[in-house]
Amino acid sequence: MARNMKCDLCPRKCFAERTEDYGKGFCGLNDKIKVARIAAHMWEEPPISAENGSGAVFFSGCTLRCIYCQNYEISEKKKGKYISPKTLAEEIKKLEASGVHNINLVSPTPYVNLIKQALDIYKPSIPIVYNSSGYERVSTIEALKGYIDIYLPDFKYSSDELAYEYSGAKDYVVTAKKAIRAMINQAGDNEYDNNGVMKKGVIIRHLVLPNHTKNSMGVLDIIKENFPDKPVSLMGQYVPVYKAAGHKKLGRKITTREYKKVTDYMIRLEIDGFTQELSSADEDFIPDWNY
Ligand code: SF4
Repeated sequence: MARNMKCDLCPRKCFAERTEDYGKGFCGLNDKIKVARIAAHMWEEPPISAENGSGAVFFSGCTLRCIYCQNYEISEKKKGKYISPKTLAEEIKKLEASGVHNINLVSPTPYVNLIKQALDIYKPSIPIVYNSSGYERVSTIEALKGYIDIYLPDFKYSSDELAYEYSGAKDYVVTAKKAIRAMINQAGDNEYDNNGVMKKGVIIRHLVLPNHTKNSMGVLDIIKENFPDKPVSLMGQYVPVYKAAGHKKLGRKITTREYKKVTDYMIRLEIDGFTQELSSADEDFIPDWNY
């Protein structure tokens, strides 16, 4: 996106004007990089965080509107600080020098052009991870060829009704499916080093929501049918925050029984991947947004 161009980076396709001063699209973001946190992150999947952590860059804003967003302070309230592509390049260099295993771009979609500018200034020798909601345009993913090594997309819903109700995206299922296919086409087979640290490929994530095991099992069915050789990270760390606090279905953590039901189903489908201790379901695990 050139300066002042109409933005169509994500499936919202707002064609909204985004300048350095304002953004008139669904995400409301202007055309400057805004970050909430840049730090080593220890709580990603074992091949991503491994021993030294993942060098996470948390971007402000989002193209979805999840009413339960675990990072709502940055996605909805847009906490953060503006930095230039040059500063982002310097921060990436510093993260790399700290010994992290990769650079992990979290919620990067509205910033992809500016991120590419940063990576043109400095491309680290460790893998670049694109960590997103899965709600992506194929054209945007294709334009990232040569910049990204690992994709970590969510697959949140197996029902568009639910996707609309909870995230305001009525075309989520088919959109995420096409986007993940494009990510797999680009990243190819998963590769790991001798210590099991990921070098390239795709891991698909799914956050289990309370009272919605059927949704989760539907997501696993879609993954099994479409991406059978990709590992799935089944996340159980949901906590009811933001608009989910007090919500009749989403207003509690998931139970051990719910999580077991979904993990058992994943095993039955013979899907490889990662599960979590439910003790990670605590607001203490939500980082400080203090960049
Ligand atoms: S990134 Fe923002 S402005 Fe661009 S299409 Fe998506 S929601 Fe609209």
